[in-house]
Amino acid sequence: TNLFDRLQQSKAQIDQLRSDLEKSREAEMRDPLTNIANRRKFVEALHQSIERSRRHGTRLALAYLDIDLFKKINDSYGHLFGDKVLRAIAQILKHNLKGKDTAARYGGEEFVVLLPDTQIHGARVVAEQIRSAIESARIKRSDNNETVATITMSFGAATYRPGEAACDLIARADAALYESKQQGRNRVTIEAATPHRNAA
Ligand code: GH3
Ligand code: MG
Ligand code: MG
Repeated sequence: TNLFDRLQQSKAQIDQLRSDLEKSREAEMRDPLTNIANRRKFVEALHQSIERSRRHGTRLALAYLDIDLFKKINDSYGHLFGDKVLRAIAQILKHNLKGKDTAARYGGEEFVVLLPDTQIHGARVVAEQIRSAIESARIKRSDNNETVATITMSFGAATYRPGEAACDLIARADAALYESKQQGRNRVTIEAATPHRNAA
């Protein structure tokens, strides 16, 4: 073969490698069970949004979601049904979000929703919409097509405060979620307001 042919061959190989690399990067960011973004992808998106907020002063809200009494669902109907619930929830999240938003499986039965350009009021509306969609979803068992008792989720939402670290935002959303669990589950709690500092 001549030089030209060999160059063409090398170019084809490079294109193939590049496309393989892109595919594996994409796969690395996806949760295999639910096929939505995984925690790694979420952390990346969060840092990008915080950077954008720092540069342009844009807002950013975060909702933290946890399935209510999921252990009982697994115990009563089996892990396969539990997995089906996780996939159904991922679909509901996708259907209720817009292009800029990111829904991710944070781990186990916990999900997060990142809402750029959103104030706390907007985050509450979106969370409430998702909460209600999950409550009214009727997920069937695959074996006997029987509908299982209502599945619900608890939510905590917080907004980014200029200058803070990503983990502080997550911690506030998580604290609000804990409050939802304490108050009886199947509800949305917004973070406590910043303590007012008296000018003294
Ligand atoms: P709470 O309302 O307080 O959140 O109660 P809970 O039962 O949901 O909380 P707990 O943390 O005790 O249980 C979480 C359960 O989630 C236990 C674990 O077996 C289940 N789980 C985590 N990941 C998966 C998964 O990938 N598939 C299935 N089927 N279950 C999972
Ligand atoms: Mg949990
Ligand atoms: Mg739970």
